[in-house]
Amino acid sequence: MKTWREECAVFGAWNHEDAARLAYLGLYALQHRGQESAGIVSLDGPNHHMYKGLGLVADVFKEKELSELIGRASIGHVRYSTTGENRLANAQPMTASLLNGPVAIAHNGNLVNAKMLRRKLQAQGSIFQGTNDTECVLHLISHISSDNFVTSVKSVLPQLEGAFSFVFLSHREMVAVRDRYGFRPLVLGKKSNDKGEDSWVVASETCAFDLIGAQYVREIEPGEIFWVDDKGTHSEKWTNPSESAKCVFEHVYFSRPDSIVFGQSVYESRKGFGRWLAKESGVEADVVIPVPDSGVPAAIGYSAESGIPFEFGIIRNHYIGRTFIQPHQSVRDIGVKIKLNPQTAVLSGKRVIVVDDSLVRGTTSQKIVRLIRQAGAKEIHMRIASPPTIGPCFYGVDTPQKSQLIAANQSLEEIRAFIEADSLAYLSLDGLFAAVGEKRLEKKKKSFCAACFDGDYPTPLFE
Ligand code: AMP
Repeated sequence: MKTWREECAVFGAWNHEDAARLAYLGLYALQHRGQESAGIVSLDGPNHHMYKGLGLVADVFKEKELSELIGRASIGHVRYSTTGENRLANAQPMTASLLNGPVAIAHNGNLVNAKMLRRKLQAQGSIFQGTNDTECVLHLISHISSDNFVTSVKSVLPQLEGAFSFVFLSHREMVAVRDRYGFRPLVLGKKSNDKGEDSWVVASETCAFDLIGAQYVREIEPGEIFWVDDKGTHSEKWTNPSESAKCVFEHVYFSRPDSIVFGQSVYESRKGFGRWLAKESGVEADVVIPVPDSGVPAAIGYSAESGIPFEFGIIRNHYIGRTFIQPHQSVRDIGVKIKLNPQTAVLSGKRVIVVDDSLVRGTTSQKIVRLIRQAGAKEIHMRIASPPTIGPCFYGVDTPQKSQLIAANQSLEEIRAFIEADSLAYLSLDGLFAAVGEKRLEKKKKSFCAACFDGDYPTPLFE
């Protein structure tokens, strides 16, 4: 069986006349977190309606599909699978018809003990439809005899290890849960409905609230279970979280810069990474350019700190579809040029600092350096606004295996030579933590997980 490492987003809406449309818009704003499949489940009286498909939110859902998702509550999910297997059976939300009614689940994160749980459940007779870890949670819930759904969820949660931000929809309530470490984000918001009452919304990032006109209330806390039903909102700690392990890579790359993640502006964090990078590894140059779009805020920070002018030296084409057909001959090595076009007027004869958010395999940086060199740059100084990526992520980010991580296998000088830059520098771990306000006076007292950069995994690894 393949292991799933998933990048995803979740959304939920309760007590709103347009619940499915809110989910559609919320997922649309969260599309950057997953492009392989999209799905929405709505609650209509005691029944669920569901629609999900492979592809982008706007392609999967048209007017007809949305108008059939009736009801005043909904949950939704977008997903990016990383193993090449892209089956509808793994698309979320996942649903089940349990003894006490229908239940739907949307999951962002990755359970590190999913294989063990699955084997145990299969030995007890559970039949699985897909290959992802989320299905285990539904099976575990189905084994609990309580007719109170929240009680059932609470008794299952301690069996799960790893990263989970869940949104559930039963026939009576919407439930939002975060794991004890708070690896993946999950935020709570509200807006008013057609009766002037409060509607409650949950989402992976606040940018979803901006689009639907909801007010950001707070984060769902690590170790919290929040639910809303006809009586109102409720919140409890399902466990006592010891130390949190919020994913620092959400701030480095994954979240949208216009989101507030873990209570902090992603845009400001990225500018901070750029400022620290400039302090740590400044170099004489004529211009600072970002790799668009992921390197833009860090390049702004780098430019502000160093006083070297910021320019868009590379322009990105935003309309690259998956259907692009490569020409058979004549235009060779078209790869990166389809997406990124260097501007000779900005680059020719210049000493250029190029800022990107991260360097994983190194192949993107190599292509970009070549493009900039072809556009006539005199010197190219690559600056990476995060530390060297040395370890895979087991908590829901698609970082490849160690063998494919260039910084896990090669020295700084070897990487510099591979990407063909005149110089290369990464942000230090101290700079990374300083920019997100992490005070690591004692190693054990941490609030962020940076395992991909420092190899310090907060949970046992069962794989
Ligand atoms: P590479 O070094 O060629 O593997 O790719 C590095 C580039 O991929 C950087 O420009 C990042 O913006 C981007 N990147 C980093 N992590 C991810 C990820 N988990 N999913 C997609 N793109 C990523």
